[in-house]
Amino acid sequence: MQLTLNTATKLKAKPDQSKLGFGSFFTDHMFNMDYNLDDGWHNPRIEPYAPIQMDPATMMLHYGQGVFEGLKAYRTASDNIQLFRPRENFKRMNRSNRMVCIPEFDEEFALSALKQLLVLEKDWVPGLPETSLYIRPTIVATDPFLGVRASHTYRFFIILSPVGAYYAEGFNPVKIWVTKDHVRAVRGGVGMAKTPANYAASLFAAERAHKEGYSQVLWLDGVEQKYIEEVGSMNIFFVIDDMLVTPELSGSILPGITRDSVIRLARHWGLDVAERRIAIDELIDAHGSGRLTEIFGSGTAAVISPVGEIRYGDRKLTVGDDAVGPMARKLFDAIKNIQYGVAEDPLGWVESV
Ligand SMILES: *Cc1c(COP(=O)(O)O)cnc(C)c1O
Repeated sequence: MQLTLNTATKLKAKPDQSKLGFGSFFTDHMFNMDYNLDDGWHNPRIEPYAPIQMDPATMMLHYGQGVFEGLKAYRTASDNIQLFRPRENFKRMNRSNRMVCIPEFDEEFALSALKQLLVLEKDWVPGLPETSLYIRPTIVATDPFLGVRASHTYRFFIILSPVGAYYAEGFNPVKIWVTKDHVRAVRGGVGMAKTPANYAASLFAAERAHKEGYSQVLWLDGVEQKYIEEVGSMNIFFVIDDMLVTPELSGSILPGITRDSVIRLARHWGLDVAERRIAIDELIDAHGSGRLTEIFGSGTAAVISPVGEIRYGDRKLTVGDDAVGPMARKLFDAIKNIQYGVAEDPLGWVESV
């Protein structure tokens, strides 16, 4: 497949790097590619960033058949642009595709198209500490048709958004709220796919958590509401008896690439990591007996997000004196330093653009 390039005649003014926030600014160009039954994936192109014109009957708008990904490009001190485990994102995107009946694409081709887009947009990769260029590959169903079935046409696009330091106000713990009244995903459902339905299903509980003063929801399993699954857009880790523990991938948990990186790096350091079922009652017991010393989330946006308090029903558990624990700090620094090319890359995770 030949990638065509159509560059913008007028470029946007770049936003102030100290005021980027998250997901509000978009670069000058985007990648687009179409799918139909006769041609498969075809017409890959880089062109000016622009709205997508859609028929009001477009299936994505009604039935939510779509998938997305999230990764980042980092600027190193020597002005290289690099990606962190990008193949894992395209691999996961195809796994998500299979779960919602979207035709798979060529992962190597998508990665090379992304790299070409990044070369064109390299001036958009910010250089202030801990800033990055967020990358959002997306596929949406485009048949103009009312009726529930898999679409016969799709659009694959990649957009880029310069984002600020996640911890602009310091690397501080957050408070999370455990819900017994709502579930995000169930076994046999699409919880392990990065598909819009999961996020729509999470909003009601998330709003409730915000109203109560908590930043995210910690989900329990959808069957018994007994076992810990994950946080809104992060996986979750615990340090119990000095051992790193995280819920096993049950089918209803999103298999995070940061989660996998935490596990691999900790094992590389010689630490024990357990992937297993963890009941909320076990966590409360471990907290009560002082054996639960840290909780933190893992995800691309924050890398590591320390948790200082969890609320479950009427109980409020303060963890690690509401301060950042040593394990969270060590993993945060180590992964970030690999991403920005400050430290060695012992597991071969970064890829230059
Ligand atoms: C994206 C996501 C994560 C984290 O995945 P990473 O690959 O580490 O960014 C965790 N949970 C949910 C629900 C997600 O959407």
